[in-house]
Amino acid sequence: MTIMTDTIQINIKPTLNSRLSQVDFDDIDFGKVYSDHMFISDFYNGQWQDFRVEPYDMLSLTPGSAILHYGQSVFEGLKAYKTESGEIAVFRPEMNFRRLNLSAERLCIPSISEEMFMEGLTEVLKLDKSWIPDLPNTSLYIRPYIFALDEYIGIRPSTNYKFIIFTCPVGAYYSKPLKLKIETEYSRAVQGGTGYAKAAGNYAGSLYPAKLAQEKGYDQLIWTDGATHSYIEEAGTMNLMFMKGDKLITADTGDTVLRGITRDSVITLAQEWGIEVEERKISVEEIITSLKKGEIVEAFGTGTAATIASIEVIADDENEYIIPQPGPDSFSTRVFTELDNIKTGKIQDTHNWIYKV
Ligand code: PMP
Repeated sequence: MTIMTDTIQINIKPTLNSRLSQVDFDDIDFGKVYSDHMFISDFYNGQWQDFRVEPYDMLSLTPGSAILHYGQSVFEGLKAYKTESGEIAVFRPEMNFRRLNLSAERLCIPSISEEMFMEGLTEVLKLDKSWIPDLPNTSLYIRPYIFALDEYIGIRPSTNYKFIIFTCPVGAYYSKPLKLKIETEYSRAVQGGTGYAKAAGNYAGSLYPAKLAQEKGYDQLIWTDGATHSYIEEAGTMNLMFMKGDKLITADTGDTVLRGITRDSVITLAQEWGIEVEERKISVEEIITSLKKGEIVEAFGTGTAATIASIEVIADDENEYIIPQPGPDSFSTRVFTELDNIKTGKIQDTHNWIYKV
């Protein structure tokens, strides 16, 4: 079957062997279950072409493929939900489209068109509609990514790339409040680096320090600035927010922090609710002093996978500080519920955040 949109033509090859009946939707491990189809486009001769939706399957690469050696790859993460009336709702996909191209530019990867991103996403979701779970706290995680394919040993931008969108039904990424350690030796990002991009290599470089923290019983790190390690930036998969007294504070982004779409949504809602929001430099010293004085009344991470993730412990090299857990009237509970209600169509989407397939 061929789908013609206004600007592109997508060839659709539906699977003959759906794996849907093998999935236990009551017990899904995050990132381990893959839906039936994927969207693919190849970049060669200077343009993106061969738009197609195919069964999710193995890829074939030559051992010399640039991605395997030099990590020229960028990705995104967004989610689709089934609304109460059975429609497919995707949360702010145009923000992921824009961020993917921002990341691509930094890695010398050719940009993609909005049509290709949105139409590819739409066709995959239409075919795999039944893979979107509808139990509380579940969704369909969507992974668009681009990677370099030149068979070439040597450092230069590739001339061939692949863009893929596949999806995974998922439950919660974190099942309990988090214990985080402030990292003051290793760095995730530096001024002038790739921290603001969703570049594959950023995640590879963070594995070792995160492993050391996990060995000490922490779930994740709080990254600090690479130059002085005295300002808080973000965590491995989420931006960080603190309710200090009645103000919401979060690190400004610049070029070392990923500009989270959940972060932006939370800030928008907080401002609408009349809460003062400060996006600024936050020193480690300020957080530790405030924790000691009990001024931090809530701390949480924000991310597509993480959603609104409660933090129960923040540790520096000497001490562990316990943070009160949110009650029903806490800001983080309220903002989690509001976002969930928007995504599942329980309340009106006044911000135009939902793209319906
Ligand atoms: N920071 C990092 C390093 C991340 O990987 C993510 C997840 N994309 C986030 C923050 C949160 O971004 P978003 O809210 O757009 O998912």
